[in-house]
Amino acid sequence: MSEGVHLKVTSSGASAIDAYFEYRNIVGDDDDGILFTPKEYEAYKKKVLPMRMKNRMYVSWSNPTGLDCKLIGPETMCFCQHRYKGHRTDFTESVSESSEIQCKVKSCKCSGFKFVPKNGNQFLRCHCKHLVTEHQVSGPYPCGRCKCREFDSSFRCGCGYLINEHKLIIETREQRAERGHPVANYETPYQAMGGLTGLSSLIDGYMRLDDSGIGKPPVSYLEASQPSTSYSPLQITSNRTAPGRSHPSTKQGTSSQNHSP
Ligand SMILES: [Zn+2]
Ligand SMILES: [Zn+2]
Ligand SMILES: [Zn+2]
Ligand SMILES: [Zn+2]
Ligand SMILES: [Zn+2]
Repeated sequence: MSEGVHLKVTSSGASAIDAYFEYRNIVGDDDDGILFTPKEYEAYKKKVLPMRMKNRMYVSWSNPTGLDCKLIGPETMCFCQHRYKGHRTDFTESVSESSEIQCKVKSCKCSGFKFVPKNGNQFLRCHCKHLVTEHQVSGPYPCGRCKCREFDSSFRCGCGYLINEHKLIIETREQRAERGHPVANYETPYQAMGGLTGLSSLIDGYMRLDDSGIGKPPVSYLEASQPSTSYSPLQITSNRTAPGRSHPSTKQGTSSQNHSP
C-alpha cells in the first residue's frame, strides 16, 4: 500500500464528516443540492421528523408465502430507475398504496414505486425480449420498442416464485409487527428507510434466516456474517463517498504487520 491512499481524518474533521452524513441521511435530496442554512435545517427537521417517527412506511417485496424477499431501502431502484429515496416517503397519514410513493424527479412519469429485481447485475428482459429500461415507467409499463403492452417476465426470484407472483407490501409498524415480521428497535430520523431494520436487511429473503430488527440475532449468525452483509443502515448511504472514514488510523498499515508466525 502506498502512502496517501487513505485520507487522514482528524477528530474534528471526522465529526464534520459525521455531521454531513447525518444531514444527508436526514435531508436526502430535499434541499435540491443547496445545503440548508442551520435555520432551514431546523425547520425541515421539525416538519419531517415527527412524520418519520409516527408514519414510517415499512416497504417489502414479498412472495405468496409472506416471505420478504426484498426489503426496500433508500438505495433500492424503482422501475423508473430512480432510487426509493428519490420518491416521496414522508406522509402526515400512513399510506398503503404504491401509487402514493411518487417519484420526485420532475420529468419522471413513474406511476409510483415499483420494485423489479435484477438477474445479478443484468436488467430483466420482458417476454417481448426488451429490457426493463426499454419499457415506459408508468403502469402497465408498455414497451417503447415494440407493441408489447405490459412488462412481464418469467424470471424466478431466489425463493422459487415468479417475480409477478410477488407484491409490494406497504405497512405501518403495527401492521408489520402483527404479521410477525421484524420492525426497528426504534424509528430513525433518516429519510426513506423503507423496510430496513437491521444487520441483515440487505440480504435476499430466502437467505435471511434471522429476524433482523427487534431481538438479537443468534451468536452463530454474528460470527458467520461477512463484511458485505454487516452494514448498518447509516452506512448504506455513506460508504460510497467516504473512503477514509473507516480507516481512522492508517499509520500502522506497514508491511511489517503482514508477518504472522
Ligand atoms: Zn419510480
Ligand atoms: Zn422516477
Ligand atoms: Zn415488453
Ligand atoms: Zn418490447
Ligand atoms: Zn421471492
